[in-house]
Amino acid sequence: MTDKLTMLCQINGGCMGCCGHDFISPDKIREAIRLNTLEFNEIKPKVTAQFIKFRDRAYPSDLRHGVCRNLIQHEDQIFCPLHPTLHKKDLREGHCDIHHLCKTAREFITWDDEKKKRFLDFVASKKLDNIEFSMKMDNSSLLEEFDLQKS
Ligand code: SF4
Ligand code: SF4
Repeated sequence: MTDKLTMLCQINGGCMGCCGHDFISPDKIREAIRLNTLEFNEIKPKVTAQFIKFRDRAYPSDLRHGVCRNLIQHEDQIFCPLHPTLHKKDLREGHCDIHHLCKTAREFITWDDEKKKRFLDFVASKKLDNIEFSMKMDNSSLLEEFDLQKS
């Protein structure tokens, strides 16, 4: 998740496309998030020091099935508990590339409202779950399919 959150980063139950790399499969991603969430719930962070304790339980490079160990899920929403929307400061600093935007999001923010709506409708028509959606954001395949569709 980036600090330049676009609408694309938040729809479909939350996008986690930037929260790891070399993803193995949707099932492995779900398993990683499930285990991260269990570990988060064991600590139950309330104050900043506890969130940092959760974050620092593993090195940034120590991914789980290619997924960042900080990524968790509550109900149907995937999110980063270190994100500045939840704290007075950005607890992700030094832990991941907080300025990263995927190619799809970079293009999306340059479009006019009509094109953005067409893309959002296109995404909705695919009826993807949040993991499938994230993988397709990360690898630009939805963007490529959208571009082909209009030509
Ligand atoms: S992969 Fe793209 S759409 Fe998803 S959170 Fe990252 S920047 Fe946003
Ligand atoms: S620290 Fe948070 S935003 Fe950064 S990669 Fe991990 S889960 Fe994603």
